[in-house]
Amino acid sequence: MAMHKIPDYNIYIGTSFALHGQKALADAGVTHILSALRGNIDSKLVSSFKHMHIQVDDDDDEDMLQYFDQSNAFIDEALSSGGTILVHCIAGISRSATLVIAYIMQDRRISFEEAWSLVQEGRPIVNPNDSFKEQLAIYEQDEFDVSASSPGYRRWKLKKAAELAAASGTAPLPTIYSEEKAAGNSTVELRCKKCRCPLAQSSAIIPHLPPSASSRYDAGYKSKIGPSMVSVLAPSCMHYFLDPVRWMQPELENGDLDGKFDCPKCKTKIGSYRWQGMKCTCGAWVTPGISIQRGRVDEIRLFTAKA
Ligand SMILES: [Zn+2]
Ligand SMILES: [Zn+2]
Repeated sequence: MAMHKIPDYNIYIGTSFALHGQKALADAGVTHILSALRGNIDSKLVSSFKHMHIQVDDDDDEDMLQYFDQSNAFIDEALSSGGTILVHCIAGISRSATLVIAYIMQDRRISFEEAWSLVQEGRPIVNPNDSFKEQLAIYEQDEFDVSASSPGYRRWKLKKAAELAAASGTAPLPTIYSEEKAAGNSTVELRCKKCRCPLAQSSAIIPHLPPSASSRYDAGYKSKIGPSMVSVLAPSCMHYFLDPVRWMQPELENGDLDGKFDCPKCKTKIGSYRWQGMKCTCGAWVTPGISIQRGRVDEIRLFTAKA
């Protein structure tokens, strides 16, 4: 079928063919159309509706998260004015479904899985591509915030830039993470073992888990850093993976795909980076690999942080 209604909402998900069923659209009371596809849409087909067009491909490199604020606002405008909206792409499976799932997630403050299964009740074939699923999971983790300060989105973009760097052989110009903006969100600070120079706060530490959790002790480590933990790292991890922080900037701007970091104060070798990614001693692969060696730093508890 060209389109299906989603339970509890005046939202339809459909194919591009649904635009040709002008009578069916009128019968369904459609007032708004949101198109999520690359290319032109025949203006005659959408002229009698409020229309928004988001130019996106159904592929792994597409950043869908950046559109959620505007697509949510448009869907919200349709529904709160008593209207009905058709969200469509080409096949009505991935792109359109991703936008509707994101809308329902933030509208009900529910998980990706819950919103996905609600949408599937209306249209069983909906199935965002793997990258869009990953992005919807990030949207959930970041609590529906896709601003520059949301860690999941920031790191997803960094990972995409690093993958592109690996493929093209050209180092990206990374966005330097500003720890000042996240002040108060950190429970731990990393300091150089030798000179005590502060190197990073826990808000800049990218959590990772040992892949198959070979030891049960490791498996208990969650990405959230709690006050009761001995270390923010699992026992088998010898690397802190970090966002690019300010003192790394001169080294990262050399344009190399990999290199080493010295402590900015005492110049001891403390870590290394590899845009293509790096394997931790626990076996986890982290992209990009921007790493400080565990043995070179101390973890200092910050008591000003909120409990
Ligand atoms: Zn590890
Ligand atoms: Zn030092």
